[in-house]
Amino acid sequence: MLETTTAVARPEINATIRQTTTQAAPDVPPVNFYSLSMEDLKSYFKSLGKETFRSQQVFKWVYEQRVTDVEKMSNLSKAFRSELPKFLSFELPPVIQHLKSVDGTQKFLFDVGKGMSVEAVLIPSADRLTLCISSEVGCNMACKFCYTGKQKLKRRLTAAEIVGQFMQVSDRLDEGQRISNIVFMGMGEPLDNCEAVFKSIEVLTNDWGMNLSRKRVTVSTSGVVPEMHRIWKAGVRLAVSLNASNDEIRDHVMPVNKRWNIEELFKACREYCRETGDKVTFEYVMLKNVTDRIEHARELHKLTRSVPCKINLIPFNEHPGSGFERPDDDQVMLFHQELMDLGSHVLLRRTMGRDIFAACGQLTDPKLRQDDKMDISNSNLGGKSVRNSSGGQPRV
Ligand code: SAH
Ligand code: SF4
Repeated sequence: MLETTTAVARPEINATIRQTTTQAAPDVPPVNFYSLSMEDLKSYFKSLGKETFRSQQVFKWVYEQRVTDVEKMSNLSKAFRSELPKFLSFELPPVIQHLKSVDGTQKFLFDVGKGMSVEAVLIPSADRLTLCISSEVGCNMACKFCYTGKQKLKRRLTAAEIVGQFMQVSDRLDEGQRISNIVFMGMGEPLDNCEAVFKSIEVLTNDWGMNLSRKRVTVSTSGVVPEMHRIWKAGVRLAVSLNASNDEIRDHVMPVNKRWNIEELFKACREYCRETGDKVTFEYVMLKNVTDRIEHARELHKLTRSVPCKINLIPFNEHPGSGFERPDDDQVMLFHQELMDLGSHVLLRRTMGRDIFAACGQLTDPKLRQDDKMDISNSNLGGKSVRNSSGGQPRV
């Protein structure tokens, strides 16, 4: 199989196959179906000497019918069915914990092997059902206020593991429910794992895949400027974790700013707006006495008025040892009001899922949470097991 895969002409398929095969047996590792586009599978079948129209058939079974038992793929020949599992697997990352918050938010913990796990958070609201998904185990961007950032990057997820979070949660929805929106705001920096993230977007948004509207997919970045063009090229929406109103504060709370400062970041944001006619969503985490003063609100307004945007205010979600505090509610209201009075388009995010550690910046490896002795004993636990996971409640 390894020799066969090197015969695949397109480099991205070779990369996908290499990525997918790292954990499988060295001799004949099957490729994970969820990492592949329709074209990838066609090329793969071709390289194996199989008919390429089989790709359409398999895609229909999996994404339209949700059938992954090869024996049930009745329009495939018996001979093809019997050999298919040798070169294609339909494995999804197992759900090892499922928690339900009192506010309706649900958190799913996935085992991604070697003792590592990632989280996805399902956030219901009146007009949408949003899934917040992870792109990496841990994160190297080291934002000072973020619990995920406390856990250094352990591994980038494969496209199959990203699509897998969506499939697993979809398969557990109530009758008639459908995930309408996806936000890449879980664990990890999506633009630090572009190949897998944009492949997963291809699978989730194409009509041969999950057929979600691209306008309902949002990629949030801390500001990896050279990769930001990929977001508008993929036709999905941009959110930027701004979190500060000037370079001095941003350098302090987000080390990425020392590499690409606010001026460079805003150039990329303006390009996004020009290319798409869309607005950027700026996320602004309010840290007591660090970013929550009225002068910061004024500076934030001045800074952002040159870009078509909306601002999401997120009061800091506390976690042990962060060194930051959540601002008082009164201060949050004053800050919000000041921005509204100045004419900014600003939303104040309700914090959701805090009881199950599913709020923004609370996602991490549960082992780290255990070490920090975070107590979730009051959670309303649903699903199989009884540990914790995380998310936020994005409204982008
Ligand atoms: N890495 C990407 C996406 C994941 S972080 C990014 O940074 O954009 C998702 C959001 O959670 C970001 O906007 C981040 O600023 C915010 N966040 C991180 N830690 C937080 C915390 N402790 N409280 C509130 N929001 C937090
Ligand atoms: Fe990584 Fe985003 Fe957390 Fe920063 S805020 S450490 S980029 S996950």
